Amino acid sequence: MSRGNVAVFVPHVGCPHKCAFCDQRTITGSTAVPHAEDVRRVCSQALAEMDSVSESEIAFFGGSFTAIKRDYMTELLEAAAEFVGENGFKGIRLSTRPDCIDREILDILKKHGVTAIELGAQSMNDRVLELNERGHMVDDVYSAARLIKEYGFELGLQIMTGLYGSGESEEVETRRRVLEIAPDTVRIYPVCVLKGTRLAELYESGEYTLAGMDEMLDIVAADAQAFSDAGIKILRIGLHASDGVESDLVAGYYHPALGELVRGRMARAFIESHITGNSADVYCGKGMISAVIGHKKENIAYFAERGVSINIRTGDALGSKEIMIGREIYRCI
Ligand code: SF4
Repeated sequence: MSRGNVAVFVPHVGCPHKCAFCDQRTITGSTAVPHAEDVRRVCSQALAEMDSVSESEIAFFGGSFTAIKRDYMTELLEAAAEFVGENGFKGIRLSTRPDCIDREILDILKKHGVTAIELGAQSMNDRVLELNERGHMVDDVYSAARLIKEYGFELGLQIMTGLYGSGESEEVETRRRVLEIAPDTVRIYPVCVLKGTRLAELYESGEYTLAGMDEMLDIVAADAQAFSDAGIKILRIGLHASDGVESDLVAGYYHPALGELVRGRMARAFIESHITGNSADVYCGKGMISAVIGHKKENIAYFAERGVSINIRTGDALGSKEIMIGREIYRCI
């Protein structure tokens, strides 16, 4: 094992809510509740197996970490803190709800070596938050983000596209407000409707309809482009296959290579805005050839339908994520 973060899943026990889209046991793939000895075991194992952990973090994910009982939270943090610092991990990262952040909690997190906090914002539209039973408002995201930055933590925002009641204008509003907050990182999760959730009921009753994958890819590609242009690092697009989602999926935008589909859309948008005639020579860095071709050659087909042929060439001088048309170079995520 070379690098990467060490993940410790703290399931639904951490969360007093039940959002319309959440089946936390499915997302974490586990109902087991970890304790200090489990944290120590996974950290020790990583130290033994990884070449170096100095750039890696111990990550608590799965529920709302700062909403769990205080003594349980400190038990986990104290165990993790033993592995942070000299010869150990770079820090600790965790995810939580925006309304579970205050100064007292941030003091505790700081004391235990936490370096990054990710907030589940999901949408930055109050009506969408209410419809999806989030139990917090947009203002809570602004307040928590402000405090997290004031304390000097790395701030991450997680958003969910395609929620119940969220159309294009709500997605654009979410994008605009995320840019206004300017987090260090984002994760973009197009909604997955899971068995046993309120969204599944709404979907099955016909109350909640979802736009097609094609439309969603355009929205997520626009998000990713805007965040990347603003210097916000995109940590993840779409749920992992290992999140155990496939078996419980009722509807939504799950795809095992969603990030690659989005990169294909981003490459398409750049090419489209730079073609001048009925053919274009597109020079690709090594990591961009499949994105330019698109999933199942969809970009080639897309341009062919518009009477444009795309000639793909390898650009040896280009970076792995770069494309060049004429003199214009585009760097994808
Ligand atoms: S706050 Fe997070 S963990 Fe809690 S119910 Fe909502 S999505 Fe699930």
